[in-house]
Amino acid sequence: MVIGGPKAAFFTDGRYTAQAKQEVKGCRIFISRKSALAAAAEWLAKNRRKLAARGQCRIGVEGEHLTLAERQRIAGILGSGFRLKPAPALVEQARMIKDEEEVDGLRQAEQLGSKLFDTVLKAIRPGVRETEVAAELEYAARRAGVDGMSFETIIASGDRSALPHGRASQATIPASGFVVCDFGVILAGYCSDMTRTVHVGRAGNEARSLYQAVREAQQAAVDAVRPGASVGEVDQAARKLLQKKGFGRYFSHSTGHGVGLEIHELPRLAARQPEVLELGMVITIEPGAYIPGKWGVRIEDMVVVTQTGCENLSGVSKELIEI
Ligand code: ZN
Ligand code: ZN
Repeated sequence: MVIGGPKAAFFTDGRYTAQAKQEVKGCRIFISRKSALAAAAEWLAKNRRKLAARGQCRIGVEGEHLTLAERQRIAGILGSGFRLKPAPALVEQARMIKDEEEVDGLRQAEQLGSKLFDTVLKAIRPGVRETEVAAELEYAARRAGVDGMSFETIIASGDRSALPHGRASQATIPASGFVVCDFGVILAGYCSDMTRTVHVGRAGNEARSLYQAVREAQQAAVDAVRPGASVGEVDQAARKLLQKKGFGRYFSHSTGHGVGLEIHELPRLAARQPEVLELGMVITIEPGAYIPGKWGVRIEDMVVVTQTGCENLSGVSKELIEI
């Protein structure tokens, strides 16, 4: 997509001829025989004189999405008359605030995700492989009509629960211990994201106190969400609680992220970040504590910022479930 000058131009290849006509609005559509990126660069080079006359020889590129090889390729086509510069994240910034229709899409996705958690619970048994649990979930999700999963399903059992991103592996679920289940669906384009950690067998006092600390930290962060609060404050609410309980150093990632058409959007809820929450932002709240080689717990909800605080979009209880 090239924006600037009198009209935006959309470049794609022959596979998308019909789809582009259906879906692209307000743009001139170019169907190219080669890569869309090369076609866009050639079009810019050809229109150079027109563009230069208006002093538009600076081209802003989306630095977060363009590889170094792609940049070199378009720079080669454009030649010396153009300057490529990283453009500000205008689209990402605009997408932080969701309108009602988008919030509704996200609510439906998260509600379906919450419902599918029952399938996960039924599938978790000692001796079952983590991939089998993921398979049951993903099959049920497809049957329910999702476009796909919003990221690779995390089912991390036993000492693997200490891996914050323990994608479902061939490991079998042990007779006792935590299982971190982090998954999401894409429903009508919108992503869901939730995590629950369950315990196989009876949880002892040590396991309970870890679970309880993460649960309280997650609630403290949810309670800190309101328009005007900085993302750093929300992160701090969870972090402070885990520190108080002695688990501070085991919380090794940020508290959450925006979610929408993509699973990771702005804002990022990390320590000391000044970004301020606004009405209509949809974010995750997902603190965790991971004790290497032993176990870990994470709890995650998706919330939308409302006038008075937030609405929790996931409907799954956070009581410790023993299987
Ligand atoms: Zn997640
Ligand atoms: Zn997440």
